[in-house]
Amino acid sequence: MSWKQNLPAVRGKLLVDEALAPFTWFRVGGPADVVFLPADEQDLADFLKTLDPAVPVLAIGVGSNLLVRDGGVDGVVIRLGKGFNTVEALGNNLIKAGGAVPDAILARKAAEAGIAGLEFYAGIPGTVGGAVIMNAGCYGSETVNVVKSVRVMDRAGQVRDLAVDDLHYTYRHSALQDGETVIVLDAVFEGTPGDPSEIKARMREITERRETTQPIREKTGGSTFKNPPGHSSWKLVDEAGWRGRLYGGAMFSPLHSNFLINTGEATAADLEGLGDTVRADVLAKTGIQLDWEIKRIGRA
Ligand SMILES: Cc1cc2nc3c(=O)[nH]c(=O)nc-3n(C[C@H](O)[C@H](O)[C@H](O)COP(=O)(O)OP(=O)(O)OC[C@H]3O[C@@H](n4cnc5c(N)ncnc54)[C@H](O)[C@@H]3O)c2cc1C
Repeated sequence: MSWKQNLPAVRGKLLVDEALAPFTWFRVGGPADVVFLPADEQDLADFLKTLDPAVPVLAIGVGSNLLVRDGGVDGVVIRLGKGFNTVEALGNNLIKAGGAVPDAILARKAAEAGIAGLEFYAGIPGTVGGAVIMNAGCYGSETVNVVKSVRVMDRAGQVRDLAVDDLHYTYRHSALQDGETVIVLDAVFEGTPGDPSEIKARMREITERRETTQPIREKTGGSTFKNPPGHSSWKLVDEAGWRGRLYGGAMFSPLHSNFLINTGEATAADLEGLGDTVRADVLAKTGIQLDWEIKRIGRA
C-alpha cells in the first residue's frame, strides 16, 4: 500500500492528488501527492510525528511567490489556515501574528494598536510565513527590520524558538530557505510608537502606489528576479526587449517588466521557460546575471 493510502488521522483536511494551481497566484502547476490543511498546531505536530519520515514536506502560504511546475510536487504540501491566523498586540510596540495571517492584516492590526513601521506589509499579498521565509519588503523596509523572533516546527513535529539573528537575513533570503524543512507557526514583530491615523494614511499611499505601478490583479508571482547589485531587474528586462512579448501564454507585464504574468492559458513550463530565456538573453547582452526571486518547486 502506498503511503498516500495510509495517512495519519487528522482533525484538519487531507487532500490526495490535489491540484496545486488553485493554491497559487499564477494558477498553474500539477498536483501534490497530498495537501494537508492542519486544524491547529497540535494537529500539525501529531501528523508530522506519525508521517513516514521519508516523505518530503513543504509549507506554502498563499502562493504569491511560487511557481509550481507542471509535473506536480512529491510528498505533502502544508497550507496553514484558520488555526494559525490570530494577531495579538503584546504591548511595548510588539505584535504577534500566526503564520497564515495575511501581511495586509498584520499591517492593519499594527496600525490599530499604534505600532508604526509595519505599514509596508499593506502592499505585500503574502502571509506572515512567506514574509518571514522570504524577508519580504518594499519601499525601503523589509522583514528583517521588524521581526524579533519566530516559532517554527521541524519535520519531526518539534517546536523551536528562533531569534532574528538565527535567520541570517539578506535581500529576499533567510537561512530558513536552506537545509531542512521547517514550518513557520508564528512570529513576533516590533515597531515604534505611532499615531494610528497617520500609519493608516501611509498604508493607503502604499496600496494606491501599487495599484498604478504593478499588475496586482494579474496571475503573477510578484518580482520575478532579484535586483542585481547596482541594477534594477525591470530595466534589464525592458532594455533587452522583453516587456510585453508573448511566449506561449507567458509574458513580462507591460505595466512592470519584472512581473511575469500568466495571460490566461500559460503552463508552468511557459512561465519558467520565458524567465530562463530572458536570463540568458540579459546575460549575453549585458554580462549581468539575473537570479530568480520566485520560488520554483516540483517536477517539470
Ligand atoms: C502582486 C504581487 C506583488 C508583490 N510584491 C512584493 C513586494 O513588494 N515585496 C516582496 O518582498 N514580495 C512581493 N511579492 C511576493 C510575495 O508576496 C512575497 O514573497 C510573500 O512573502 C510570499 O508569501 P506567501 O505567503 O504567498 O508565500 P508563498 O509564495 O506561498 O511561498 C514562498 C516561500 O515561502 C515558504 N513558506 C510560505 N509560508 C510558509 C510557512 N508558514 N512556513 C514555512 N515556509 C513557508 C514557501 O515554501 C516558499 O519557499 C509580491 C507578489 C505579488 C503576486
